[in-house]
Amino acid sequence: MSMMNKMTVADIDLKGKKVIARVDFNVPLDAEGNITDDKRIRAALPTIRHIIDQGASLILVSHLGRPKEGPEPKYSMKPAAKRLGELLGKEVILAADVIGEDAKAKAAALKPGEILMLENVRFHKEETKNDPAFAKELASMADIYVNDAFGTAHRAHASTAGLADYLPAVSGFLIKKELEIMGKALENPDRPFVAILGGAKVSDKIGVIESLLEKVDTLIIGGSMAYTFFKAKGYSVGNSKYEEDKVELAANLLDKAEKKGVKLLLPIDNVVGKEFDPNTETQIVESDKIPDGWMGLDIGPKSVELFSEAIKSAKTVVWNGPVGVFEMEKFAVGTRKIAEALAASSAVTIVGGGDSAAAVEQMGFADKITHISTGGGASLEFLEGKELPGIAVLNEKK
Ligand code: AMP
Repeated sequence: MSMMNKMTVADIDLKGKKVIARVDFNVPLDAEGNITDDKRIRAALPTIRHIIDQGASLILVSHLGRPKEGPEPKYSMKPAAKRLGELLGKEVILAADVIGEDAKAKAAALKPGEILMLENVRFHKEETKNDPAFAKELASMADIYVNDAFGTAHRAHASTAGLADYLPAVSGFLIKKELEIMGKALENPDRPFVAILGGAKVSDKIGVIESLLEKVDTLIIGGSMAYTFFKAKGYSVGNSKYEEDKVELAANLLDKAEKKGVKLLLPIDNVVGKEFDPNTETQIVESDKIPDGWMGLDIGPKSVELFSEAIKSAKTVVWNGPVGVFEMEKFAVGTRKIAEALAASSAVTIVGGGDSAAAVEQMGFADKITHISTGGGASLEFLEGKELPGIAVLNEKK
């Protein structure tokens, strides 16, 4: 999907207008309700500043967490509104509801340059159902719709897509940047183009593997996914996690890679453990020698070397998913070494959201990566070549 023809917030006259902007302020909170990481709020700042600097008033809408039925205080947007106010050095008004009397009164009273944050949009079940009446109520408060929530762009909800049925719809700068960087990598990458896929399940990533096989020079597979591929090669995998019903598919993918001339790299050695436990006994074994009673939990040192060499010679690298059980210290080494290789590379490096993004950030490598996507699910679907509903609904440039 190309972003080139979609209108952005820079292409529309905002002066004196009321703008409703969908942002992704789904920030992590500790038990006391303090924000533990505000990067999603900071990622929306360029769009927010642009809108108010142009003389518009701004109504922000976001979800936070997964409220079940109606308003729940622990999922209030209050901490996010407060943090945004601190970052901007400016008051952010918080509405007591989403489309209720308080929100509507505050939206109506909003003056140019002022910012109103609505309450958690998922306090209404109509949001995730993309209910048209609900979207219309939201739209009634504003003149223009800006979508800058990349993290939910793969969802067709009322605030991520439905609003575009009632208002002129443009993207914010975050969505623009996400799509430009990832779009270039997929459409016209500097080569060699290397992708690293890790994580738990082949079934989650079939679409991505198939799509990337059409584009990359080298595809590296780690994580428990690798064991399904080992099975396809006829190796025994001991107690490693793998998907029996995906072995045939893995065999086909190996075949396809060979026919296409794509180098498909699997781990050549593994850190195996007796139990799925942080303190379990471990050893390092070659991939066709995993003993009965042991399970593969991380890639081994030879694999680290092999994968790092591929990364080193690449001009574009895309990484999605940890190559081991990185939540356990003993099995986090492989994932860390991959992060290190990306950080040391002079290639365009793109890290999909989720676990691999967290790994890169925890290690302090974030500023050495070209782009860390703010959306795990959305970036995976983008890499699969799927159309993202939150982008599809935006107006085309004339
Ligand atoms: P995903 O959400 O698909 O990216 O999967 C991430 C999860 O995969 C993490 O929680 C890892 O612990 C897990 N994982 C990675 N490698 C392995 C492995 N060898 N065995 C079991 N789980 C793994």
